[in-house]
Amino acid sequence: MTLSAPITQDVHTIPRKLPEGPVNLVGLTRDQMREAFVTAGTPDRQAKMRVNQVWQWVYHWGVRDFTQMTNLAKDYRALLARHFVVEIPEIVSRQVSSDGTRKYLVRIAGGHEVETVYIPEEDRGTLCVSSQVGCTLTCSFCHTGTQKLVRNLTAGEIVGQILLARDDLGEWPVPGAPKDETRLLSNIVLMGMGEPLYNFDSVRDAMRIAMDGEGIALSRRRITLSTSGVVPEIARTATEIGCNLAVSFHATTDEVRDVLVPINKKWNIATLLDALREYPNLSNSERITFEYVMLDGVNDTDEDARRLVKLIEGIPAKINLIPFNEWPGAPYRRSSNNRIRTFADIIYKAGYASPIRTPRGEDIMAACGQLKSATERARKSRAQIAAEAGVTQA
Ligand code: SAH
Ligand code: SF4
Repeated sequence: MTLSAPITQDVHTIPRKLPEGPVNLVGLTRDQMREAFVTAGTPDRQAKMRVNQVWQWVYHWGVRDFTQMTNLAKDYRALLARHFVVEIPEIVSRQVSSDGTRKYLVRIAGGHEVETVYIPEEDRGTLCVSSQVGCTLTCSFCHTGTQKLVRNLTAGEIVGQILLARDDLGEWPVPGAPKDETRLLSNIVLMGMGEPLYNFDSVRDAMRIAMDGEGIALSRRRITLSTSGVVPEIARTATEIGCNLAVSFHATTDEVRDVLVPINKKWNIATLLDALREYPNLSNSERITFEYVMLDGVNDTDEDARRLVKLIEGIPAKINLIPFNEWPGAPYRRSSNNRIRTFADIIYKAGYASPIRTPRGEDIMAACGQLKSATERARKSRAQIAAEAGVTQA
């Protein structure tokens, strides 16, 4: 089997500062914002307070127009307006599934597009955020993997997805109204397009902004980062972000995982498990989610289930079984419901939670692994995908 795309990172994030124009405040860390304010002429001793004030306007109240930041003096508002903007990416289109899932096609600088998905549930609302346009990795069952990587998102473009979803949900607080504790957008998963750990710094800065208590204020336990297994960045995820970790595991032998998740050739199952064993201690989080896509006849036998249980022994874990979501030209089929249930049962009886993920937003191609922006559609033919995956076509 040959792979046409590299399995390592080959791009860097280009900061989207307009050469001469105003700087976008969205996505700056507190320290970066402070520095920017000082450079723009804010006296050093005032800078921290100004950051606090502007931060609250932008991230707590959802205000983007400096003239509305009424606790700042008029002169200071004018100074800010000369040097800065508060800008988020634009929603190009918005589709709503019959199950209430919303999928946004989002345009970022340079005209590139990513997708963001909002999934309402009874007790929570989860926003599935993208971290890259496309992905350098080529997992053979993933639609995004057939799309070439265009570029990494900036921290502002990642945070911007949260802000635009709150706009669309109408969820900014109203001054004077009682605090509403039941949030429409209560959880974030980094499970959209891209490999978040190949865009570590921007993802970290964006998540720190999302966790900041004076703004969006989501606790680190309400954020889950999903990785295909970029082992060298796992410890940093624990110490620098501290959110929950999900791992795209998907196979119980290196032979099968090499095909499904090709990054396995670089960091195999044993190496990955070693890094995962450290995670709960380093991050003080409870358990790791193992994502396991159910592919008919590929990774779904009873033997696989038993091997999985053996492999993860000693790791506080939950196994999330994902029925394969099909996409045009996909070289796999979803395992039968009976097969998935039997598989889940073996894991459950070994003492691990083994929920079967209900596909959401399938009718609008918003389910796991179906995201792929229209700009880069159909780069590879069905035959090419099948050949790369090493499977014969049905
Ligand atoms: N790049 C990261 C995060 C994005 S993918 C990662 O790979 O973890 C989010 C989850 O959806 C991953 O577990 C991924 O393996 C899974 N997935 C991808 N394609 C899928 C498909 N067609 N059906 C079901 N799950 C899929
Ligand atoms: Fe990239 Fe994740 Fe899809 Fe693999 S599963 S191709 S890492 S987005």
